[in-house]
Amino acid sequence: MSARILIIDDVAANRIVQQARLSAAFYDPILAADGATGLVIAREERPDLVLLDLGLPDISGLEVLQRLRRDPACRDIPVIALTTTGAATERLAAFAAGADDVMDRPANERVLLARLRNLLRLKSESDFAAPDALALAGLAETATLFEPQGTIALVASQPARAQALQDALAPQLRDRLVVLSRREALADIAAGQSRDCLPEVFILQDDGCNPSATLRLLSELKSHQATRHAAVCVLGPAGEGDEAAMAFDLGADDAVGPRVTGEELALRTRGLLRRKRHSDRRRERMQDGLRLAMRDPLTGLYNRRFAAPQLTAVATRAREEGTEFAVMVMDLDRFKQVNDLYGHAAGDQVLVEVARRLTANLRETDVLARIGGEEFLAILPGSSMANARRVAERLCQVMDDDPIRLLSGEELRVTVSIGVAVAGGGGEASFAVEGLVEQADLALLESKGAGRNQVTYRRSAA
Ligand code: GH3
Ligand code: MG
Ligand code: MG
Repeated sequence: MSARILIIDDVAANRIVQQARLSAAFYDPILAADGATGLVIAREERPDLVLLDLGLPDISGLEVLQRLRRDPACRDIPVIALTTTGAATERLAAFAAGADDVMDRPANERVLLARLRNLLRLKSESDFAAPDALALAGLAETATLFEPQGTIALVASQPARAQALQDALAPQLRDRLVVLSRREALADIAAGQSRDCLPEVFILQDDGCNPSATLRLLSELKSHQATRHAAVCVLGPAGEGDEAAMAFDLGADDAVGPRVTGEELALRTRGLLRRKRHSDRRRERMQDGLRLAMRDPLTGLYNRRFAAPQLTAVATRAREEGTEFAVMVMDLDRFKQVNDLYGHAAGDQVLVEVARRLTANLRETDVLARIGGEEFLAILPGSSMANARRVAERLCQVMDDDPIRLLSGEELRVTVSIGVAVAGGGGEASFAVEGLVEQADLALLESKGAGRNQVTYRRSAA
């Protein structure tokens, strides 16, 4: 579906020109001729972006902006404000009221469209993230009240220029400003500095001599693992005109021409930092959600749901490569007694320690999951019967050798029974996942029946 762009403008000619341009770029424009109508449409239609003329006849553009930002239904809609006067105070007021960008009329069409793409991309990323539980709980604003100091890197080809920028910004920002040469900025990335000390915002100061070097640094920062979530602003000649359009398409979060005032740049920088942290928080919550969906909360091992597709993937790879793989089902012996004698909490401690020992005795490439209360599954890619045998016996051994020490100080001897099935190495049928875990389960039952604390083996039918 094409993105819906709400144009709020009282001049009919402006509306028609914008409408034609946006339609030609495959957007779906919606028109409003005054502020009041614009607010109603924004609320009812929830457009993907608003192009807002600041000089409206009924309600001022700034007031429209403020109302959009106060309305929970509209506060996340990106807004590009357009000014006719180009007055610095009006631009500043629009940023302060929550505009994502402010452009002077007539706006360069290519830059406007590139900025539009950039804001729509950011919006779709944040829409994709997990529902904002903090916002639902009404806590989002409190979280931003206590923002820690940020680190902002000023990168220039000549340190003296960056120094002047630092002098202009320092009185207006409470964040740490560091001056870096281009070489230093790249060296920091290459050294893979820990995420905590990397700058959160990079301002790339272009001196007009070599804009492509500035744009190259931008794409390096945006593609490198350590810095790709940092906000990047291109400042100077490369921040306007065709270069600005290119900068946005390369992932710049902002592009600003050389005539910007220190005050406006400070406001823009604060906005970049705020949005960057907002999207960091969303991303973290989404990762937490994914981790919870994959992991067993007690032991941190993968859960049953995650293990099933892993098994299919390992079997597929084994078939392609003509290798073998092993599946092990492990069940603690007489575990019910642990709970009965020492309590459920002690039982949990035992499960955590068992998980730790199993993990320590398997390879990084093996998959280990908790598939039931006191039942674990290991998948060993590339493992022959001989190898699986060595591993399984070691696992039995590391449980039996050392008693598990509970927090109470008591020590428990815990043993495990294991069933192993090895697949692959034969005809097509020998790779079948179906029945493999069942074979391992039957082998486990045999181990239990034969007195526990031992391993039984099966080879899947070839
Ligand atoms: P066997 O040697 O035949 O496997 O005997 P068992 O006692 O280990 O087997 P059984 O299946 O009878 O009991 C398993 C016990 O595991 C019962 C249940 O209370 C306990 N259990 C399952 N999940 C958890 C858990 O998350 N924490 C604790 N503490 N105990 C659990
Ligand atoms: Mg058991
Ligand atoms: Mg059991």
